Amino acid sequence: MFVYREMTMKIGFIGIGNMGLPMAFNLARFGYEVTAFDKSEQACLLGQKRGLRVASTMNEFSKAENIIITMLPADDHVAEVYIGKEGILDRVSQSTILVDCSTIDVNTSRTLADEAKSRNLDMLDAPVSGGVSGAESGSLTFMVGGEGIALEKVMPVLQVMGKNIVHAGASGMGQAAKVCNNMLLGVSMIGISESFTLADRLGLDPKILFDIMSSATGDCWALRNHLPIAGIVETSAANRSFSPGFAVAMMAKDLRLAESAAKSVDLQTDLGILASTMYTEFEKGGSGHLDYSAIINLIQQKAFSK
Ligand code: NAD
Repeated sequence: MFVYREMTMKIGFIGIGNMGLPMAFNLARFGYEVTAFDKSEQACLLGQKRGLRVASTMNEFSKAENIIITMLPADDHVAEVYIGKEGILDRVSQSTILVDCSTIDVNTSRTLADEAKSRNLDMLDAPVSGGVSGAESGSLTFMVGGEGIALEKVMPVLQVMGKNIVHAGASGMGQAAKVCNNMLLGVSMIGISESFTLADRLGLDPKILFDIMSSATGDCWALRNHLPIAGIVETSAANRSFSPGFAVAMMAKDLRLAESAAKSVDLQTDLGILASTMYTEFEKGGSGHLDYSAIINLIQQKAFSK
């Protein structure tokens, strides 16, 4: 089996925003021939600044691309790129493997994989976890749905961008794993924010609470890495006025995806729905651009109505 390890292989990378730019940069630095595209001029300029070859239109991707990776905001953007007017599914060669790393709806992902299959193309859903810092350090977790053989072929490329690459099952199962994970992350961050706001009102030092909690039963990844209090955890967005990181708008989107996935299998996820409502309210209030851990600001404003 031909495995895509050769340095001469060509990779097309569409969507070089917060996540896509460092992912594409790592591939280019490793030695792959990367051509990037983004519809935002500013993203293209940032890409060029980091030494990436940037195409001016998606049409510049030729049939020679061995792999095309997409890292786009949401369902509509992904659908536009794959099956829109200039959609890549109708233009790439049959040996090209398509890897969508965006977080999108499970059913949209399956539909796009079916569209690819009907053209004899392999498409994997491969959403990631690990945030911008994981993208920068090449230590993302990839949750992959689709054919195992296609995954084996692109494995060396994914390993440049990530540390854990997990085959979650058939098409859409990568997205299923991602929404389940992020529903828990959103719920966890709200819980952490409520705990630390309560501690503050009770007069408890947050550093003391952090030291206790991180070695007690309240310990979790979000607490250790994204504590919404400044000056305690080095990687917290709270240390940089909640600049993202993983934006509130993205978390709100993921929670809505989890809600719709739950509805599609007739399941009521009470905490997931509440988290979705809170993040959407926070986004609508003008905080969509902040890091998701800024949800503590919403909680700090909440009071019992008398
Ligand atoms: P982003 O908004 O920073 O980047 C997305 C890029 O896609 C933008 O630069 C945008 O201009 C570009 N784009 C949109 N439509 C396009 C089109 N039709 N053609 C070409 N380019 C187009 O978003 P991000 O934070 O990089 O997130 C990307 C995806 O990764 C999302 O689905 C998100 O949920 C997921 N994700 C993000 C994080 C994180 O921490 N930011 C973590 C895990 C997963």
